[in-house]
Amino acid sequence: MHALTEKYRHYWQQIGLSEAEIERRRLPLFAEAMELKTAERSPDGREFLLTPAAAAAWKRMKAAASADGAEIHIVSAYRSVERQVQLIAAKLAGKQTLDAVLRILAPPGCSEHHTGRAIDVATGTVRPLDAEFDTTHAFEWLVKHAANFGFTLSFPENNPFGYVYEPWHWCYGESGFGKAGS
Ligand SMILES: [Zn+2]
Repeated sequence: MHALTEKYRHYWQQIGLSEAEIERRRLPLFAEAMELKTAERSPDGREFLLTPAAAAAWKRMKAAASADGAEIHIVSAYRSVERQVQLIAAKLAGKQTLDAVLRILAPPGCSEHHTGRAIDVATGTVRPLDAEFDTTHAFEWLVKHAANFGFTLSFPENNPFGYVYEPWHWCYGESGFGKAGS
């Protein structure tokens, strides 16, 4: 039995999710980041945390994008497993079904955001966390250049994990999703 399965099982129970469903979707489990640094602060003072390496890579990438006239900023970075449970519970309380919620939010333990290497990126011209992001200059810039800074898109269209297309979600370093299903 995977040590993380042991660790996360009670979180799945809290939201009424079966372990069989995690296995059926072949979702990789992620450990929470051990060390975090501030990658960025939003204008309203919210702090976005990433691992030291990912935070440094983000700062380099943002500066390079800016030099090319592409504005990018973070709207989500590190997220604890506990926080993931809260987010899902809030949506369930809003009368959404678990299935619907889990197309948008990963089950607790299954979010790349736990690693402190994943970011949701936004740009000024469109609403954050909207597929329309892929029509922006910022997205076009990321597709061309993000790999040079170690970032890759985790959920392209028709990804095998049952998540919606997320042009805004990028991960620094090896994505755990690359290995899923193998
Ligand atoms: Zn994300």
